[in-house]
Amino acid sequence: MDSMTFVLFGATGDLAKRKIFPALYNLFLDGNMPTSFSVIGLGRREMSHDEFQARVEDSLVTFSRRQTDDQSKMEGFLKAFRYNALDVNNPDDYKKLLQTIQQREEELTIPENRMFYLSVAPEFFDKIAYQIKESGIATTKGWKRLIIEKPFGHDLKSAQQLNRNLSVAFEENEIYRIDHYLGKPMVQNLEALEFANPVLQALWNNQYIANVQITASETVGVEERAGYYDQSGAIRDMFQNHMLQMLMMTAMHLPKKISPDDIRKQKKMVMESLRPLQKQEVAKDIVRAQYDQGEVSGEAVVGYQEEPGVKAGSMNDTFIAARLWIDNDFWNGVPFYIRTGKRMTEKSTRIVIEFKNPIKDLYSSNNDETAPNLLMIEINPNAGVTLQLNSRNLLNNGKLEPINVDFSASQDDMPEAYELLIMDAISGDATFFAHWDEVEMAWKLVQPILEAFEGNIVPLHRYPSGSMGPEASDQLLKENGFNWW
Ligand code: NAD
Repeated sequence: MDSMTFVLFGATGDLAKRKIFPALYNLFLDGNMPTSFSVIGLGRREMSHDEFQARVEDSLVTFSRRQTDDQSKMEGFLKAFRYNALDVNNPDDYKKLLQTIQQREEELTIPENRMFYLSVAPEFFDKIAYQIKESGIATTKGWKRLIIEKPFGHDLKSAQQLNRNLSVAFEENEIYRIDHYLGKPMVQNLEALEFANPVLQALWNNQYIANVQITASETVGVEERAGYYDQSGAIRDMFQNHMLQMLMMTAMHLPKKISPDDIRKQKKMVMESLRPLQKQEVAKDIVRAQYDQGEVSGEAVVGYQEEPGVKAGSMNDTFIAARLWIDNDFWNGVPFYIRTGKRMTEKSTRIVIEFKNPIKDLYSSNNDETAPNLLMIEINPNAGVTLQLNSRNLLNNGKLEPINVDFSASQDDMPEAYELLIMDAISGDATFFAHWDEVEMAWKLVQPILEAFEGNIVPLHRYPSGSMGPEASDQLLKENGFNWW
């Protein structure tokens, strides 16, 4: 792994404290950081290096997955950290930043490899990219990379504009767009499940699969994020990015080899084959809904309209269900169902593959029935894989009953998404990051949905908090003879 400088914009923010410092520290403790590295934190207010290091230490003690009694390890880590005050709009601050970067590169005799992590509001992304270029920070004899996290735009047009602005300073292969769902161990494992198991690989097509269901349900409501969420909704917050990324990972087909480029190519082919939605027809395949008051985990909660910060009469979607079709030889005729929402019954992200059941009637003369085989991939909060099969229960008159073959991954030492993703970015492996082509195609799919919502030609259903969404979401599957698992 190359020695490098990690430049963190937004180093005094919440994400840095809760996720980024702990991720770097865990990589360090696991021996997954370069032997020599420098971290330069940037924030709006003034602070000494010592003060900054103390803040970082504080965050590690509070939030790090791994802890150590060996104080020298902690000290060894913290001594890599420096702090500069920087206002994103002030060119002089970038000049000072360049000096700090160069000074540290000299002190540590490390090459000019520079990683820029923008943990700041997205409206700053293009300003920062522009200043990085203008100040000369981007002119390096080593590599340079940019890490950003969604939202990548608010719609197709703004996403394209943002991408043009970023490309002033960074090439596409230098931009690492985090979709933290792609950092979840079970999502990273999808590729192996599909391709490293000939038994599943052989079945991974429309000849054997009846439908695919991808669910990400949350129990929380909008919390303190109404300002953002009321403008975004489940469609932008979850569907355009995380849900479509999981769909790509599930539907992609065996690449020639397992390399970032080949996997990206396969994911892109999925997006290219996704049947576009026509604005006037969106309501046929997309259900939007908003939560009402209800009860979640035994607690009474208010409806979305009563949440602080939500504007009166808001038509925002807190739930989306979708039926999508992939028009290629592998998936013709297999519906992909997606649903995601807030204030639902349980917190769970999972993918269920329902296999066809051609022998359904074979046992009916014995008054027996077979359930469909299901492959259930639990992503969050538990990680595991379950295969549902039919088996005779000799304790119940030999009747056929579904049994589960279960694997549950131990959560204890599981690295966090940010650890895996930051490690990949430092190593230059872009497999689990969102490529611009994917982001743009996802916006193209979503754009007519946004317009149909804005034009109010899609009904806004309601669902009680604590449920799995509105009746209309069940109906979407019933139309094809299925139900949500
Ligand atoms: P925050 O408000 O806690 O921190 C913002 C950071 O930006 C601070 O370090 C602040 O000093 C800096 N900043 C603000 N204005 C600045 C300016 N003019 N010049 C220079 N620096 C400036 O926000 P956060 O929760 O850390 O989130 C940062 C970004 O990451 C946000 O865009 C958020 O949407 C995104 N994000 C956050 C989380 C999370 O869990 N907190 C998760 C995913 C994505």
